[in-house]
Amino acid sequence: MPELPEVEVTRRSFADRIALARITALHMGKPLRWPLGVEPASLVGRQVVGVRRRGKYLLLDLDTGLLLLHLGMSGSLNFAPTQPEPGPHDHMDLVTDRGVLRLHDPRRFGAVVWASSEFAPEAQKLLGHLGVEPLDGQFDPDAFAQALKKRQAAIKQVLLAGDVVVGVGNIYASEALFMAGIRPTTPACRISRPRAARLHAAIVQVLSRAVQQGGSSLKDFVNAEGRTGYFQLEAAVYGRAAAPCRVCSTPIRSMLQGQRTTFYCPTCQKP
Ligand SMILES: [Zn+2]
Repeated sequence: MPELPEVEVTRRSFADRIALARITALHMGKPLRWPLGVEPASLVGRQVVGVRRRGKYLLLDLDTGLLLLHLGMSGSLNFAPTQPEPGPHDHMDLVTDRGVLRLHDPRRFGAVVWASSEFAPEAQKLLGHLGVEPLDGQFDPDAFAQALKKRQAAIKQVLLAGDVVVGVGNIYASEALFMAGIRPTTPACRISRPRAARLHAAIVQVLSRAVQQGGSSLKDFVNAEGRTGYFQLEAAVYGRAAAPCRVCSTPIRSMLQGQRTTFYCPTCQKP
């Protein structure tokens, strides 16, 4: 599943090239997770002002309104001067005078949604509950520590919920908790301030590093320029069940937590 770093890498791969492009057509394929919410033809002639990211949503700002794009479980975006004929898994072509932005999404959990503004109900329904962004100045260690004090759920579940801090998915939550030495099952409210500060730093570090490296968790993730990311080659715990911990050599354990697999080192990570 594309996580925040993959979405950010995707954004960077085409944001500059699509800026100021004029939309000449929008072709939608099979139904996605949510309907577009507008007649595709009504977007013809609009200009793309820029591309922002909020959580795992890409916000394609137009001169009037915006398109919210989500990659779902298996989506990828590719922006190219021209595209071959759409295949069975290509469900959106946004045709502009600078190239064609194509959504490829075999499982169709992705979405392309029109909103008249970021603050309109149709956008707020998707963006309104999101926590702070981990990679900009709003993510504050003290506020993070205080937010954790109010939650009784396991820390990993709290991270995945995305309402304290957004975009820390399964892989990066496992990695950040390892880096901070915190067992994924520890109740969030029992994490002391110094440990919360370590976790805060670990989240920022693991996500920034993944973005820098072209971030990938998904085997078939390809960014909009067609290059695959390689974060998974460096994972400390994720996907390494029974392999020796890179720090202490204890075999890494895996367990199911809220139907997602969690990986941790029973020695390095304390409850
Ligand atoms: Zn260890």
